[in-house]
Amino acid sequence: MARKIVAGNWKMNKTVSEGVQLVEELKNELAKANASDVTVVVSPPYVSLTEVVKTAAGSQVEVSAQNVHQEASGAYTAEVSADMLKSAGVGYVIIGHSERREYFAENAVDIAKKIDAVIAQGLTPIYCCGEVKEERESGNQNAIVGGQIKDELFHLSDADFEKVVIAYEPVWAIGTGLTASADQAQDMHAFIRGFVADKFGKVIAKETSILYGGSCKPTNAAEIFSKPDVDGGLIGGAALNATDFVGIITAFN
Ligand code: PEP
Repeated sequence: MARKIVAGNWKMNKTVSEGVQLVEELKNELAKANASDVTVVVSPPYVSLTEVVKTAAGSQVEVSAQNVHQEASGAYTAEVSADMLKSAGVGYVIIGHSERREYFAENAVDIAKKIDAVIAQGLTPIYCCGEVKEERESGNQNAIVGGQIKDELFHLSDADFEKVVIAYEPVWAIGTGLTASADQAQDMHAFIRGFVADKFGKVIAKETSILYGGSCKPTNAAEIFSKPDVDGGLIGGAALNATDFVGIITAFN
C-alpha cells in the first residue's frame, strides 16, 4: 500500500516567526486529531527551514524544501544544494512545481537532475506534474503528464524510483479555486499508476504515493481522498492555516 501523505507548500508566505507559530499550532491540532497514519509535511521558504525543523522535531510533522539546485556546489548565486538541505534537517524536496516551470523556466533536463541530486542525498522528492488548461480542454492531459513523467523520472533505477512521491497538480486548478472533480483526479491517478507499472512493475506502482494538488480544501478533500488511487494531497493556500490543514489531513475515510 502507498503511504498516505499530506504535504503543505507554503510558497513565498510566512516569516520565520510566523512559520514557527504555524508549526506549533499544527502540532497542537494534530495531537487532538486521529491521523497518526498520515505523513504530514510542511514546506516553508528556505530561510525558515532550520527553525521549522527545530520546532517540528519529535512530532508528526516532517519538513520539505520547495526547490533545490541540481549542482552540488559552486558559483550559483542564491541557490541551495541538496546536501545543504540535508544538513538543515530537511527530509523532502518539492521538485518541478508548475510555478517553478512557468516563472523560472525549469525544464525537463533541470528537473531530472534535481531528482537525482535529491535522491543522492537520501532525501525524498515530491515530484510535481500536471497539464495546463488548454491541454485539458483538448483532451491531451494523459499524454502531457505521461510525457513529463517519462522525461523526468524514467531514467531512474527501480530502487531510486521507489523513493519518489508523485504530486499530480492540474495547473488550471492551482490557486484558482477550481478543483479537479474527484473523478478527474482518480482518472489521472489511475493513468499515472498504470504508466508507472508499465515501466517499473505493478508492485512498485502500488507502493508509489500519488498526491492530488489544486485548490484542495477541508470541504473537498474527503471526496478526493476517497478515490482508490489518491494517496493524499499537496496543499497550497489551505496549508497556511493549521485548522484548515488539519481538516485536510483528517479527511481520509
Ligand atoms: C500548489 O501550489 O501546489 C497548490 C496545490 O496550491 P493550492 O492548493 O493553493 O491550489
